[in-house]
Amino acid sequence: MKIKRLICAVALCLAAIFTLSSCDSLFIFDIPRLYYPNGKTLVSHYLDVGQGDSIFIELPNGETMLIDSGENYHGASIIKYIEDCGRDKIDYLVGTHPHSDHIGSMAYIVRNFDIGSVYLPNASTNTYTYEKLLEAVKKKKMKVKNGKAGVNILNDEENSLYVNIIAPVDTDVKNLNNTSIIIKIEYGETSFLYTGDAETGELKTVTADVSADVLKVGHHGSDTSSPQSFIDAVNPKIAVISVGEDNDYGHPSTKTLKRLENKGCEIYRTDELQTIAVTSDGINLDVKSGFRTMERE
Ligand SMILES: [Zn+2]
Repeated sequence: MKIKRLICAVALCLAAIFTLSSCDSLFIFDIPRLYYPNGKTLVSHYLDVGQGDSIFIELPNGETMLIDSGENYHGASIIKYIEDCGRDKIDYLVGTHPHSDHIGSMAYIVRNFDIGSVYLPNASTNTYTYEKLLEAVKKKKMKVKNGKAGVNILNDEENSLYVNIIAPVDTDVKNLNNTSIIIKIEYGETSFLYTGDAETGELKTVTADVSADVLKVGHHGSDTSSPQSFIDAVNPKIAVISVGEDNDYGHPSTKTLKRLENKGCEIYRTDELQTIAVTSDGINLDVKSGFRTMERE
């Protein structure tokens, strides 16, 4: 009898998995939860943290990355989101630059989650948030890795997966935005660019190839982070803007939106669509939105 029940349960599970994996959409519930038939999908989750950045990336080699972590009250929601994705570790944690809308919750996340490596730019500030982050890293007996142009994070030929830091080339201590770590991920024929809050001053120093299919638009869509020359060089098909509803800065700027529209680029905004997920199987890209917000929970 017990064996019969077990067979029944297994059959039901298999039927459920088959139904879910054969759906058009691989997204269920309030988070995009993928069933990995072969583990070869990249998912870039642009978490809605209001006026700030936090991007959780499930890499096709099975590892994960978190770029930025919103303000100091987003930590618990970000961790819950990651756990609900079925993940229990952030292999690569990146703070693009030491402003509170990017590293606000990073100390909390370091204290409360399993972390592989931590990358920060070589730019210091004496804010409470930044000092707490360094303290949390030290307490875990970890060392911050210097995130600068030329640092290779992953070089996985087997999966055609390459993760590189392409900026900052120099450090502009007067403007922390211009110390932003810029990351490029290449997976198969697809590519993703994450630009933090880098402005024109930093962008013009970048010598690496910035072309990418998917662009996390710099500095919440501000005009100074998306000059025409940069948009031309990236030439994105998909642009994601991480920005707060009715923010005080007028982000995103109409100039930025026009430049992206003129490129024929699809634009997705977290203030309109909440959390946005872009997936890549190495060839095709897919965008889904409307997932759980970290901001207004
Ligand atoms: Zn910012």
